[in-house]
Amino acid sequence: MSLLPWQNATVVDVVAHNAHTKSYFLAAEGVEVFAFKPGQFVTFDLPIADRPSQRMRSYSIASAPGNNNVFELVVTHKPNGAGSGYFFDHCSIGHQLKFRGPQGTFVLPDSFNLPIALICTGTGVAPFRSQVKYLLENNITIPEIHLVFGTRTLSDALYKEEFESLAAAHPHFHYHLTLSRPDHNWKGKHGYVHELYTDICKNGTVDMDFFLCGWRMMVNEARTRLQDLGYPKERVHLEVYD
Ligand SMILES: Cc1cc2nc3c(=O)[nH]c(=O)nc-3n(C[C@H](O)[C@H](O)[C@H](O)COP(=O)(O)OP(=O)(O)OC[C@H]3O[C@@H](n4cnc5c(N)ncnc54)[C@H](O)[C@@H]3O)c2cc1C
Repeated sequence: MSLLPWQNATVVDVVAHNAHTKSYFLAAEGVEVFAFKPGQFVTFDLPIADRPSQRMRSYSIASAPGNNNVFELVVTHKPNGAGSGYFFDHCSIGHQLKFRGPQGTFVLPDSFNLPIALICTGTGVAPFRSQVKYLLENNITIPEIHLVFGTRTLSDALYKEEFESLAAAHPHFHYHLTLSRPDHNWKGKHGYVHELYTDICKNGTVDMDFFLCGWRMMVNEARTRLQDLGYPKERVHLEVYD
């Protein structure tokens, strides 16, 4: 398979979610519409090293496909991270970036017979935010959508208000947030994502499709637990961030 050509994008907006996570809105140059499937990612060639293989960093597209050339990424600043540090230090409005994409097969099926659970931690929510908005804004027929989002604190709960409004407007969309290090005022779920999806699938008795996204440890653990609950690997789809 041949690689997609490199393109340029310009940063058109930057919005901070908290001290270590920002959304970057990029306009792809030379196209009226930047077409992609919800769940896909783009890869940047960042000027952070001499060797091309050391300069590549991928980021999932967090926005739903629209009718223009702008797309959103949500980037967490990894301590001493070269790529995410480059975004935080250099990518203000007007900055240009070299990227290729869209890429990836972590996309939704064409039609849905079963409920789906989208399970993520941190910026692993990015492809799911794109998919949830796409499914709901286009009234795609689907039995149930469960978004299971785990993070440390309330300030890390990316897009919380938006997901809550979507859940209020769409009874078949369920937003499950759990915090692993909440402060004492938190009245919601406390702990990791694993208990939540185990409850949702009623210990493996509900036939569902699962989509997992985030850092390797969470994805591997969820995959193993779902296998142990009896789900075949065709039901479990993965995107690993490393
Ligand atoms: C499909 C996909 C989608 C992703 N989406 C997001 C997202 O939406 N938001 C987000 O915050 N992150 C996302 N990531 C993670 C992101 O690509 C970076 O890994 C993350 O930003 C940390 O990169 P860093 O350069 O800051 O950290 P670093 O520690 O500098 O690098 C992180 C990774 O880059 C590679 N790397 C680093 N140095 C070298 C080197 N010298 N040579 C070769 N490889 C090297 C390694 O794989 C390393 O694990 C995604 C990753 C993938 C694969």
